[in-house]
Amino acid sequence: MTDSQNARAASLSHLHSAKLSRGDPLSTPIVMSSVFHLPGDPAGARQYGRFDSPTWEAVEAALAHLEEAEALVFPSGMAAISSVLLALLSSGDRVLIPSDGYYTPRVLLEKHLTRLGIGYDTRPTATFLDGGFSGYGMVLVETPSNPGLDVCDIEAVAKAARSEGAITVADNTTMTPYGQRPLDLGIDIVLASDTKAPNGHSDVLFGHVASRNAKMIETIREWRKLAGVIPGPFEAWLVLRGLETLEVRFDRMCSSAEIIASRLADHPMVQSVRYPGLKDDPSHALAKTQMLRSGSLIGLTLASKEKAERFIDTCPLIEATTSFGSVHTSAERRARWGDDVAEGFVRLSVGCEPTETLWEAIDTALKTT
Ligand SMILES: *Cc1c(COP(=O)(O)O)cnc(C)c1O
Repeated sequence: MTDSQNARAASLSHLHSAKLSRGDPLSTPIVMSSVFHLPGDPAGARQYGRFDSPTWEAVEAALAHLEEAEALVFPSGMAAISSVLLALLSSGDRVLIPSDGYYTPRVLLEKHLTRLGIGYDTRPTATFLDGGFSGYGMVLVETPSNPGLDVCDIEAVAKAARSEGAITVADNTTMTPYGQRPLDLGIDIVLASDTKAPNGHSDVLFGHVASRNAKMIETIREWRKLAGVIPGPFEAWLVLRGLETLEVRFDRMCSSAEIIASRLADHPMVQSVRYPGLKDDPSHALAKTQMLRSGSLIGLTLASKEKAERFIDTCPLIEATTSFGSVHTSAERRARWGDDVAEGFVRLSVGCEPTETLWEAIDTALKTT
């Protein structure tokens, strides 16, 4: 990691203590209150739990510290995405999104936003720059794409889309602020599902939006308050706790994934592997220029649907589940959701188990499927 990344990671769990008085609890309290003491003129004080919450403020301060940008929290990654779309787009606008990214935003646009007069187009991540960005009010990238792990040049997209007047958005869920920093590459708004690695324990849904554009943040903040898309204090507290160990978890996950991906690439039972950290991966050259780590997701293709299912089911250190980024390794066959991948394609989310023990379990399971 770079020095500035290390400095951010080191000071993250000390943000709260700077504000303490003698005798205060060292850990951030969960504040369970829908209302606040508010006699007289309400200006300048916390007013109501849909507008504000001391526990959100704590996790927003931590996320702002990591993103180096103002952050707003949401009850899920999709709440963050839908709030960015609905707060910033108007009838007649068009959005460009990846055809190979997380599928729910495409369904949301198709089923609900087109009804409101917001159009959209899709384009593969690997050729995202082709065709330019003329006519788009918003351009959303997701790189590496989930689950195919193709990448696009964030800085080039940000520059070209901005010159056409589009708002640029990056879904940075697969990388976290420790693995990739889209705002530093010129993107207007970064968002993520903190359900994944930031919380990291498969027990909370959460999301956030961050931007260095104060006007966009204020518009989205007002949307959140009016639409009521707010997280609960307990979820916010759990994510705050998760963020304190994100650096060490993500470091282990990426380091293990680098080793496991290269061994999978040489494995006789594996037909092909996608991992941006592999030298001969189509994403590698570009990944090296904009990603600080290669991530914790590996795409591997086995010979058939049956072999892929058996591999997932027989490996004792793989949880058969959707989602990714948790302390436990997990995997799923993405074709079961209709993703445009081979029937035997498995998305492996490498967790925090000791690397060699995890590899032995994966290798044994592959040999017996
Ligand atoms: C999971 C995910 C989301 C949605 O997040 P939720 O917290 O499940 O709403 C959005 N984008 C990407 C890339 C994801 O992986």
